[in-house]
Amino acid sequence: MLKKVLIANRGEIALRILRACKELNIKTVAIYSAADRDLMHVHLADEAVCIGPPNSANSYLNVPTVISAAEITGADAIHPGYGFLAENPDFVEQVENSGFCFIGPDHNTIHTMGNKVSAIKHMQHLNIPCIPGSNGPLGNDEQENLKIAEEVGYPIIIKAAAGGGGRGMRVVRDKSELINSIGMTKTEAEAAFGNGQVYLEKFLEKPRHIEIQIFGDGQGDAIYLGERDCSMQRKHQKVLEEAPAVGITPEQRMEIGMLCTNACKEMRYRGAGTFEFLYQNGKFYFIEMNTRIQVEHTITEMVTGIDLVKEQLRIACGEPLSIKQKDLTIKGHAIECRINAEDPQTFMPSPGKITTFHAPGGPGIRVDSHLYNTYVVPPYYDSMIGKIISFGETRDIAIKKMENALEEIVIQGIKTNIPLQQTILKDANFQKGGTNIHYLEKMLKELHAK
Ligand code: ADP
Repeated sequence: MLKKVLIANRGEIALRILRACKELNIKTVAIYSAADRDLMHVHLADEAVCIGPPNSANSYLNVPTVISAAEITGADAIHPGYGFLAENPDFVEQVENSGFCFIGPDHNTIHTMGNKVSAIKHMQHLNIPCIPGSNGPLGNDEQENLKIAEEVGYPIIIKAAAGGGGRGMRVVRDKSELINSIGMTKTEAEAAFGNGQVYLEKFLEKPRHIEIQIFGDGQGDAIYLGERDCSMQRKHQKVLEEAPAVGITPEQRMEIGMLCTNACKEMRYRGAGTFEFLYQNGKFYFIEMNTRIQVEHTITEMVTGIDLVKEQLRIACGEPLSIKQKDLTIKGHAIECRINAEDPQTFMPSPGKITTFHAPGGPGIRVDSHLYNTYVVPPYYDSMIGKIISFGETRDIAIKKMENALEEIVIQGIKTNIPLQQTILKDANFQKGGTNIHYLEKMLKELHAK
């Protein structure tokens, strides 16, 4: 087993990783920016190293500094969490070359999956269903691009191969807009991701976002742990997630799960991973693979009873998967509400001091958050300050438990999106289940118009 893990992240996920390490008697090193001295996990870690100023480019994203911190403290492994350096193949390669264990796949896998064009190519080869599209990057030949779009059929979506976080995408409904839109998306992608490569695929009008959690041992064995429905999105960002997805039959789950599992076996995939799909008219279409633990891993933990972060730590040091596919069952229903420090109406970030914090509780409620009374939410990072997870025998009970939890929770001193989450939970169509990725924005528009 690993002896000492450096946690290369902050906030709730850093605390989540710390808790898992402690359960496994692994020593922990926290790294933190000058703005994060008072993070909960920094206080609880065995060692803590300040790695730079608040600006993440000079702290959490500074590769040499992060690796030096691991060297100085004698850590044997690095857990990247999500975001920051988690899917940066250059970082992972340097971690490997410096002799540390990276808790995740090897840098080649991350490199392939990090470029959506190469990821799609790879998946097609592995029999994963993909969205009809250009099957490669778009060149400069305008006639050729018009022909590709015509064949795929409008509307289409132009996407940056290096895109992420819901950025670098543009929908085109008419051929008169195509050439201009390709040019604009290329320019934006070059500026935002340092890579102007773009491709196009069919724009699906009413899909749901359904993703499959997988785990591989890096030696050719792999399992799937069911799906999550992440269709409640605003600006391509997930707001509320649930597992299992309403209406997905055990047969469908097994079929898509096995396809993903076989792909992972073929790749000799190591660690936690997620295959993201759009789901429309009973069919799954691959959009991308995330090669890390995800924010919403919690709901899979609730319905499978498996601690995914502990599993990551075990696999990283060469242990086999702790569970066999045939022993894995999906039980009950789980919902996760992301709690953001933001204005629930304007969505403007709302950093500041928490004057009162009271966590909700009761059976089936889990709080993954680094908040405490007097903690100051800094303005420099993502606005997510925690996640509330509810687990019940049925979806209706999970919704009720979540409603209770959001009524109980007290966060004073800053604004949060809790009122938005409450509106979603009360919505008749959400309660029915199965809403698509455009539903939340439509609902917000209608509420605004009232
Ligand atoms: P990112 O890496 O930026 O998260 P994704 O490729 O995962 O980008 O897409 C993010 C979201 O964008 C999806 O969940 C979906 O809401 C929307 N989207 C992406 N591709 C399509 C498509 N072909 N048709 C319709 N919506 C899409």
